[in-house]
Amino acid sequence: MSSEPLSSQKYFIETWGCQMNELDTQRMAGQLMQQGILPTDDPTEASVILLNSCSVREKAAQKAYSRLGIYRRYKEKRPELLIGFCGCVAQQEGEKALRRVPDLDFVVGPARVGELTDILARSRSGERVAATGFPEDRDFDLDTISRESSYKGMVTLIEGCNKKCTFCIVPYTRGPERCRPLAHIVEEVRHLLRLGFVEIELLGQTVNHWREPGESDLDFADLLDTVASLPGLQRLRFITSYPRDFSPRMVAQVGKHQNICPYIHLPVQSGSNRVLKLMGRGYEVESYYDLVDQLRAVRSGLALSTDLIVGFPGETEADHQLTLDLVERVRYAQIFAFKYSPRPGTPAPRLKVEIPSDEVASRRLQEIFRLQESIQLELNRELVGEEHELLVTGWGKTADSQQGRTTCHRIVHFDPQGVPVPLGSTVRVRIDEALQHSLRGSRIDQPAHPAEPAPPRGLRVVG
Ligand code: SF4
Repeated sequence: MSSEPLSSQKYFIETWGCQMNELDTQRMAGQLMQQGILPTDDPTEASVILLNSCSVREKAAQKAYSRLGIYRRYKEKRPELLIGFCGCVAQQEGEKALRRVPDLDFVVGPARVGELTDILARSRSGERVAATGFPEDRDFDLDTISRESSYKGMVTLIEGCNKKCTFCIVPYTRGPERCRPLAHIVEEVRHLLRLGFVEIELLGQTVNHWREPGESDLDFADLLDTVASLPGLQRLRFITSYPRDFSPRMVAQVGKHQNICPYIHLPVQSGSNRVLKLMGRGYEVESYYDLVDQLRAVRSGLALSTDLIVGFPGETEADHQLTLDLVERVRYAQIFAFKYSPRPGTPAPRLKVEIPSDEVASRRLQEIFRLQESIQLELNRELVGEEHELLVTGWGKTADSQQGRTTCHRIVHFDPQGVPVPLGSTVRVRIDEALQHSLRGSRIDQPAHPAEPAPPRGLRVVG
């Protein structure tokens, strides 16, 4: 047990994976800071180290154990150091991780993140804790979140997932779907707006499957309407949408509210109905195309992004060509494509079909990337000459360069013309040049909403 007072202790969190994990990290950081423990970027001076792992990574468990092997060595110099294994891999490994890593102090699954304060207290008194599983009565306990940004806030709508895509580990690591009541969501968004947040991102594994808990028939369309109507909300995003759950009423809300950003992530996974069936996705590519057309009809300039799995068990050359056709037809602003790799406990590796070799999957992936690169550059070129509002998100390497995001999520580099623009402000720019992954623009007005520079990571606790 450490004799060091909590107020002089520091924590270090390494985070892998998706926005859900990012938000879990912010929730854990908030609990640590409530105890007076401050963040550090140097794990060797930390009294608490947390590894927030992601099981979507290839060889995730192996990589996590390798990181824990590095962290446990720090105990030689700091025997009081507490090491916690968190996230989806921790959920899968549970007590096994405590047996495998003798210096590991505790394991916390994603549904137990809110218990970190209690787990730390038990660890300090020498108990080795494995807090995994999905307790029925767990609350969303979002009162203490150390926000990473002072202008962009993530708000959970749903935890877990009830779908059973055959490749996906999430239903096993994050448990069954649980929706937050609308009133709690609205209260959290209002709170962030009072603090000056500019952009709100609504989160859920299948965010558009949100339903009001209980007897109510309110769904995600009603929620979008309510949240987008809150006074002062400049930018609203949501991720991740499940194509089959995107109803015409939801599409109508995207058209109705101009503060819903015209950038939607719509994972399709494959352009072949045969592969979609093997994946258990529950939709066909024709209905996906129909949804894309509906969305584009209600919002001009809408940018779409997607996820693709390449080399899925049973994928043939013909299936791959259908995926290339889909990329060509939809013309995504961005794609996230990966070679299939089996996840322990998921059904896909047991499908009685031929699995494309690694060589074939790599070649197919490169073909998709090559096609996407040319489309992306063409789409970026179409923006040259247009005026866009940027949310300023970063400083450049030199004084004449800053960067921000358009509402359609493009990164734009611009010259602040000698007057640095505070992060979280909005500026208008004209797009001058298209690059492969970003744009260059010239500022054409003064910041509309001056804001304080962002605080250092983890230093803002909001309740
Ligand atoms: S919808 Fe499918 S891919 Fe998405 S989290 Fe649920 S099971 Fe995984």
